[in-house]
Amino acid sequence: MKRCERCGLNRQERFYSGPRGRICTTCQKKARSEAHHRRRVGKTYGLEPGEYDALFIAQNGACAICKGTRRQRLSVDHDHRDGVVRGLLCRMCNGRLLTAARDRPEVLRAAAEYLEFPPAIEHIGRRYASEEVNNNSRQRRKR
Ligand SMILES: [Zn+2]
Ligand SMILES: [Zn+2]
Repeated sequence: MKRCERCGLNRQERFYSGPRGRICTTCQKKARSEAHHRRRVGKTYGLEPGEYDALFIAQNGACAICKGTRRQRLSVDHDHRDGVVRGLLCRMCNGRLLTAARDRPEVLRAAAEYLEFPPAIEHIGRRYASEEVNNNSRQRRKR
């Protein structure tokens, strides 16, 4: 057993690349993946080393819109018109929410207004979807 200098876990020899390995293979893999990510966001979005991490910390490690914290890395969101980096978003907010709203703030404001003040309730009162439809949409949301 040997103690990893990175994660501090006591691990068996087989978790080290060799007898002189000081960092376990799990930590090595993680470091390699982080280095790769750093290079990629640098090349693709012009982020300086450390800027992704600084932004991540500034956003409390959460998606800037839904505040979700997932195991997946947050995506670097940019304005498609001029390429300016806006912030870090989860894949749902970046890929679905903003895409569906076509990056238009007025659409998103209208969507919030719609959910808070549904026109049907105001104009025809409360009508209820059948159990079936209701369950289907609930299942779809789970996926
Ligand atoms: Zn380790
Ligand atoms: Zn999100």
